[in-house]
Amino acid sequence: MKVIKIGGGSLKGKGNIQDILALVAERGPGHIIVISALSGITDMLIDGMTEALRDDAAIPSIISRLKNKHILVARHIIPTGKFYQKYTRDLNDHLDQLERLYYGLNFTKEITPKIADVISSFGERLSADLIASALRSLGLQATYRMPHKIGLITDGKFGDATANLPITARNLQKNLLPLLKKGMIVFVPGFFGVSERGDITTFGRGGSDYSAAVVAAAMDAELLEVWKDVPGYMSADPKFIPEAQLIPFLSYDEAAELSYFGAKIVHPRTIEPLRKRKMKLNIAVKDTLNPDAPGSLITYRSP
Ligand code: ASP
Ligand code: MG
Repeated sequence: MKVIKIGGGSLKGKGNIQDILALVAERGPGHIIVISALSGITDMLIDGMTEALRDDAAIPSIISRLKNKHILVARHIIPTGKFYQKYTRDLNDHLDQLERLYYGLNFTKEITPKIADVISSFGERLSADLIASALRSLGLQATYRMPHKIGLITDGKFGDATANLPITARNLQKNLLPLLKKGMIVFVPGFFGVSERGDITTFGRGGSDYSAAVVAAAMDAELLEVWKDVPGYMSADPKFIPEAQLIPFLSYDEAAELSYFGAKIVHPRTIEPLRKRKMKLNIAVKDTLNPDAPGSLITYRSP
């Protein structure tokens, strides 16, 4: 079983999302997909907090902007009918909760780390439901499981949490293996987990890569694939240096170093859970715009 991470950069524009669907339909059954929020949504959620703090009259328009973004995509990828209706009902439920959180924040006149983490976790909840619903409408067996419902347990540090791997491994195996055995495509929203006290805690911006590695480590996956909207690691920035070449193989250390120095293909924390579990799992970076290209392979040690 593989864990596939789909980045927000690939979830941009109706056409691209349609291509991602086809790819997941072909390559996803029996595997776990850790998904980011649609491109730009986490920023909208976070900016919405300052707007809501200032003026509660801004809240309805924050909610309708988020709704429009998702409906625009949903209309394109889910045919009208029962799957579409179910999706819009779920979307409204999520947005009702979110709206209450924004009002709560305005009422208390404070953006606490706790409420900030709950609010910013909504992008991944919405995208997982959207993509799973679209796949179901195509007749595929797809579902999603929320990290806080399946016991992706963290240390409780808001905005920069770390997963508790032994407990998470036990919980995730129990909850996800039966679904995978049935050949289902199982989505898990990235970016957050839940503390033992029950608080939603995020892994920091860009943290869905880390989530994917946590899930891969917890499930003893055979491979972690990171689907992005770039070809892989490059020897230089192709925007400035046209001769830039793809780096086909890197070690864990090299990938982490490159991440810290700006070529942020995978988040620098991604290899942390693999190291902790003493796993030598390969991480394949794949280009969703060119999915048959080899991409870059991150291995425990440079071959
Ligand atoms: N959506 C979150 C962010 O934009 C997490 C992620 O995409 O990795 O930071
Ligand atoms: Mg994102």
